[in-house]
Amino acid sequence: MWTFPTSFPATSLVFDPATLLSNRRIVLSMLSLPLKTTQQQREWETILHIAQQNGFPPAMIHKLRHQIQHKTKHISPQDKNKKWPIFTYISPQIRKITNLFRNTNIRITYKWRITIANRIKPPRDQTPAHNQWGIYLLTCNTCNLSYVGQTSRSLSIRYKERICYIRTNSPQSAYALHNLQNRHEYGPMDNTMTLLKRTNNRSLLLPYEQYHTQALHHNRKLIPEQSPGDTNPVFQAFIKP
Ligand SMILES: [Zn+2]
Repeated sequence: MWTFPTSFPATSLVFDPATLLSNRRIVLSMLSLPLKTTQQQREWETILHIAQQNGFPPAMIHKLRHQIQHKTKHISPQDKNKKWPIFTYISPQIRKITNLFRNTNIRITYKWRITIANRIKPPRDQTPAHNQWGIYLLTCNTCNLSYVGQTSRSLSIRYKERICYIRTNSPQSAYALHNLQNRHEYGPMDNTMTLLKRTNNRSLLLPYEQYHTQALHHNRKLIPEQSPGDTNPVFQAFIKP
C-alpha cells in the first residue's frame, strides 16, 4: 500500500531548471540520511511519485541520483581525511606559506579579499566634521552646559550664525540667550561645537534633535534656556543614566 508522502512535501519537486538544484538537494539528503535500505527505498519511491505528479521527468531524477552516488563513491578514503582550511588570497606571496603544506593532509583553498560587496561599498567619508550636517552641540565656555541644535547645512555656517546672534546682541536662539543673559562666553568653533549625529535624512533631524536634547537634560548638561520638550518614553528607554 502506498504511503504518501513521508519526508518530502508534495510541492518540493517541480520541473523547472531553476529548481533542479533544490531537487538535487532533496535527493542528496535522502541518500545521506542514516536510513535503512527499506526506508531509503520508500523515500526514493516517494520522491519519484512526487516528481511524476509535478511533471518532473523521472528519468532526470534517476540521473540525479546516479550522479550523486557516482560522486560520493569516488572520493578516496585519503581525500576524505584531508582538511581544507581557507586562506585569504592577498598576494601571490601567500603561496610561500601555503606551499609548506604541500606534502601534508592539508589542502588549501583560497578566498578573495576583494569581493563584490567590498567593491560596491561607498568609500569612507573623509569630509571634516565641520563641513558635515546633522545634530550638533554648542557648549558654553563658562559653565560647560550645552545647547542641542540641528542643521541641514554645514556646521561651520550654523556656528557663524549662532555667534553672530551673540555679537549683535540678538537673543534669537537659546544659546545666544544663555550667553547674553548670563554674560557667559563662547569659544572657537573647535572647542565649542561638536557633531553629535550626522544625518542627511531631513525627516530624522527632528527626532534625533529631540532625543539628544532629552538625553542632555536628563544628565543635567542642557542649558536652562533650552526646553527639553515633552518627555518621550521611547527616548527615555535609550537614555543612559
Ligand atoms: Zn554657560
